[in-house]
Amino acid sequence: PLPGPVRTRFAPSPTGMLHIGGARTALFNYLFARHHGGEYLLRIEDTDRERSTQAAVDVILDGLHWLGLDPDHPPVFQSTRAARHAEVAHAMLAAGQAYRCFCTAEELREMRERAIAEKRPPRYDGTWRDRDPATAPPGAPFTIRLRAPQTGEVTIDDLVQGPVTVANAELDDMILLRSDGSPTYLHAVVVDDHDMGITHVIRGDDHLTNTFRQAQIYAANGWERPRFAHIPLIHGPDGAKLSKRHGAQSVTEFRDQGLLPEALCNYLLRLGWGHGDTEIIDRAEQIRLFDLDGVGRGASRMDYAKLTHIN
Ligand code: GLU
Repeated sequence: PLPGPVRTRFAPSPTGMLHIGGARTALFNYLFARHHGGEYLLRIEDTDRERSTQAAVDVILDGLHWLGLDPDHPPVFQSTRAARHAEVAHAMLAAGQAYRCFCTAEELREMRERAIAEKRPPRYDGTWRDRDPATAPPGAPFTIRLRAPQTGEVTIDDLVQGPVTVANAELDDMILLRSDGSPTYLHAVVVDDHDMGITHVIRGDDHLTNTFRQAQIYAANGWERPRFAHIPLIHGPDGAKLSKRHGAQSVTEFRDQGLLPEALCNYLLRLGWGHGDTEIIDRAEQIRLFDLDGVGRGASRMDYAKLTHIN
């Protein structure tokens, strides 16, 4: 086991089903925490109030329970933490790590169009970075943007992908808090992971590019960032992104087909994590053997025939 406490989390957005990709992410977080004698937490990322539903929350909780992946503590609902997200953004503002941007939607649109016309990446140009907020029209709405470093680079030493680097100059000053006071997704995730004491963020590799911006938020706050492990997504047998035409994709569908939870977990574990030729291993053995160094970098291909065979 690693020295010191290990804390992982599964952080689904409750906007639909519990996808088997999500189930595998939960399983890896669970096994990694257990293997290292740590804790595994659940955060329901329901900040997008329009797309999040109670039915989707229930589907996730039911699915995790069925898979034997109940979290060690009651779930944290991200929407309940909005005041804390705003508090951190305002503290960053007071410390000069963030600034008020009074650009209107119209101005931002023109900025984008100008950049596209000049064949530049459509990024925020820093209009309000050094401007005195007192020059804004009284009472004008503003967003809070990160004063991102403009030189140097960010390197993430990813536990699955290896070291990945991006130049800070590639990243513009992202919005932390919108003009209605709500947090952006990247900001909320960083504040929550920090406050929950997360030591290892294990998630799908579609989030890898977000990590650079999240690293800037950690740095601006002087917070130690967790270790990251971005696991490859699950693809269909033909190598294409998993979709309906391949067959079942949600945990509920597999359950309705009569698959046993042990069989699904065992299959998901072996998909993208290699440990010899062992066909079926029980939970205790999974915990004993699992570590991130066995996770491959290539996309995993779902093999439905094999899944039904295991059952
Ligand atoms: N809520 C995100 C998702 O459902 C996960 C974010 C994260 O793990 O950092 O894809």
